[in-house]
Amino acid sequence: MNVVVDLNRCQGYAQCAFLAPRVFAMHGEEALLYSPVVPENQQERVRRAAAACPVQAIVVGEEAGPGER
Ligand code: SF4
Repeated sequence: MNVVVDLNRCQGYAQCAFLAPRVFAMHGEEALLYSPVVPENQQERVRRAAAACPVQAIVVGEEAGPGER
């Protein structure tokens, strides 16, 4: 599974970093860093983070498979 964040949309609310801290991290006040390939054991957290993002900036894709490209 992979994940893409639309950083133009992201407002730095950090909900995702709170819900899936191994995938999303805030860098400073507003910049979001994330790892686009999601390990299998983080997928549920990433789905929750995507659902929780107030501006729907997180898009989850299945095509990458479980943590692999
Ligand atoms: S929850 Fe959404 S708006 Fe907040 S930091 Fe994550 S991607 Fe950005």
